[in-house]
Amino acid sequence: MSKLRIGIDLGGTKIEAVVMDATGALREKRRIATPSAAGYDAIVGALVGIVEALETAAGEPCTVGIGAPGTVSRLTGLMKNSNTTALNGRPLAQDLEARLARPIRIANDANCFALSEAKDGAGVGHRVVFGVILGTGVGGGLVVDGRIHDGPNGIAGEWGHTGLRGEASESVPPCYCGRRGCVETFVSGTGLAADYARAGGVAGYDAHAVVAHATAGDDPVAVAAFDRYVARFGRALATVLDVLDPDVVVLGGGMSNVDRLYSGGVRAVANEVFSDDMRTPIVRNRYGDASGVRGAAMLWDAADARGAVTP
Ligand SMILES: [Zn+2]
Repeated sequence: MSKLRIGIDLGGTKIEAVVMDATGALREKRRIATPSAAGYDAIVGALVGIVEALETAAGEPCTVGIGAPGTVSRLTGLMKNSNTTALNGRPLAQDLEARLARPIRIANDANCFALSEAKDGAGVGHRVVFGVILGTGVGGGLVVDGRIHDGPNGIAGEWGHTGLRGEASESVPPCYCGRRGCVETFVSGTGLAADYARAGGVAGYDAHAVVAHATAGDDPVAVAAFDRYVARFGRALATVLDVLDPDVVVLGGGMSNVDRLYSGGVRAVANEVFSDDMRTPIVRNRYGDASGVRGAAMLWDAADARGAVTP
């Protein structure tokens, strides 16, 4: 019986995978490019290949958990809401179960991030953990009492595609989800870079460059864009706190490395939340980029990994 768990972080550009042992330590690691352009069958083949390679290295069968962009529809078992659009409408779990001859657990990548940080990361000891990913997009995941809460639509925590109040949504291009003025449009790293570009900034700056020049104070367009970003972060996250009032908020993704979010960003949330005395800790993640693979592996408890795989 296996006590080893494979965790896979299926991203739009890369697939990362690990073998986690019963103590939570990572034994094997692999990383390959996601064959997104080659289509769905190629992605399935790549996932099967990486599982087989890890099992060979580990020397025994393992459970498999996958963190993927989007979610699995409870109604149909098909993937939906994924920005890796080759996955949408496809029975990824069933196809992998057939190829790998075992049950597979798939969860939204932000949910895997939240699970990893709740279990033994920056959210440990808190009952309700809201995990936020601020990167190319904006994701969110909710863990209550150590388990992912996904809801009947599988969308719990998906604040990235709610409207950001106080913004003129006509002034921005539509989101990939089809609506305008989503939180993701403004609060993702991509959104910061796009906002800076719309304001007449230097062509080709990414979010990192905008933050660097704003912090150095040598580009007034960047300074203004970064100020807008922090205010929007406050408004967006305050709405989450108003609805959910989690015990802790853990930030992940590339923008979670921006120090100002833990000072000015927290003050911006406190100014906007429906309370005159906000006590919610808003903290940096512990495991960084490894949270995705760790949380995916943790979709199987160390206990129920035993017996889930037939050697
Ligand atoms: Zn959207």
